[in-house]
Formats: sequence, structure tokens, C-alpha cells
Amino acid sequence: MVHSETPSGTLNPVQDIGPIARRHGAVTIVDCVSSWAGIELKPEEWQLDLLVAGPQKCLGGPPGMSILAVSDAAWAAMEANPDAPRGSFLSILDWRDTWHGKGAFPHTPSISDLNGVHAACAELIEEGLENSIARHQRVFDACWAGVEGMGLKPWPVSKDIASACATAIHVPDGLTDIQVRDHVRERYNVQISSGQTAGNLVRIGHLGNTARAMPMVAGLAALGQGLADLGADVDVGAGVAAAMASLSASGA
Ligand SMILES: *Cc1c(COP(=O)(O)O)cnc(C)c1O
Repeated sequence: MVHSETPSGTLNPVQDIGPIARRHGAVTIVDCVSSWAGIELKPEEWQLDLLVAGPQKCLGGPPGMSILAVSDAAWAAMEANPDAPRGSFLSILDWRDTWHGKGAFPHTPSISDLNGVHAACAELIEEGLENSIARHQRVFDACWAGVEGMGLKPWPVSKDIASACATAIHVPDGLTDIQVRDHVRERYNVQISSGQTAGNLVRIGHLGNTARAMPMVAGLAALGQGLADLGADVDVGAGVAAAMASLSASGA
């Protein structure tokens, strides 16, 4: 299952699903690529088994590596599986036996990627995980307020199920996500995202180093004016004012 479902800007209740799966003896595999390091995630308490994250999202590190957390149940399931990969860069068991067992890499590592992840982890530790999570939440709250203030409709049906890593927004009738994204990029040099497979929506991403007030406000303003350019009925000023008021109230 996916924790933070980036294409639709939603969050799945893995904290509720984990204990149910554990009770039934099922091993859970969780894609927490866009939540890890920016959104609350408690693998042990939530009884999740195999978690996969990437350094290039909320950590603000380089792409190219995978970060895993593996529970005892997940190790047991892999050991019991005669078809589990071995002799491969993709073999989690190989990594365990050599890295955890001997403190060595099973294959030549990508040293520049490792150094990048190491540096990004050092920055996270310096900031503090709780502070990183709070920063993502503050910027998300302000973005959501800005979207509503502009008269636009967030894609998640309620804020309770929204992910703090990106704000997904319904594209007004008569326009398409690709058209809006391309226009905003071309005219304002601001990159927002399309809805990919999730629907006719656009997204303002705010994770890692973009989970800061000003990149988010730039995204919001460029999206609002871009929609106005394309004929949509939006109040850009009211949206920016609402986002700034939210930032002000949160002390950011
Ligand atoms: C970005 C993302 C991925 C893809 O990560 P890659 O490192 O590009 O494979 C997968 N799942 C989610 C939820 C993501 O946000």
C-alpha cells in the first residue's frame, strides 16, 4: 500500500491497516517514498513490515537510492521464500547478510549517491525530525488555505485525508492539467505537476527543500495567475493573502 499517495495528494490510513494485517498474519509492504522524513510515520507502533522510501522527496536528498525498514516478520517471510532474489543488487537478503552481517557492501556502492544521502540525513538530524514534519505541515496548511482562498477546489474530499507533501487541486472546467501545467511553466518559469493517472488535477509540491514558504507561495501565485490567463474565475490576491495569513499565524 501507499502511505502518501503523491499523484492525488492524499494519505492512506496505514496506521489503521497495519494492525489489522498483522492480526491476520499478512506482511505489509508500504511505499512511504513521499512521506518519510516529512510526515509522521511510525513503522513499529503501526505494525508495518517492509517500508520503502526515497531520499529525493521529503529528505531533500539525491535520487537513485532506496531506503528500507524491515520488520522481523518481513525478514522471516523473505527467508521462507525459495524464490527470494539472491546474488543481485536487488536482493534485500544479500544486503542484510553482508552489510548487517559483515559491515561490508555486497556490491560496489554508488559512493556519490551515498555521500549525498549521508549529507541530507545530517541536515535532517540537525533540523530534527519533528521540526521537519512541522515545517511540511505549516507549508501545506498555508498552501491549502491559499487554494481555497483563491476559490479553487482541493482534490482530496477533505483535509483529513490530504498528504502534507503536495496540494492537489481540481482543474477548473474546460481546462486540462497538461494545458495548465505547460502554461504556468512557459509563462512564469514555475513547475507545477499534472495529475498523472489520478485525474484532471494539478499539484503544488512542497517537500524537502521546497517545503518552504516562498517556493510554495511562488507556486500558488503562478498557478492562480496562470489559471486567470486561461480564463478561469480565480481571485489570485485573496489566495496569496490567505496563504500569507496562515504562514503568519503559524509563526513561519
Ligand atoms: C516519487 C514517488 C515514487 C517514485 O519514486 P522513484 O524513486 O522515482 O521510483 C513512488 N511512490 C511515491 C508515493 C512517490 O511519491
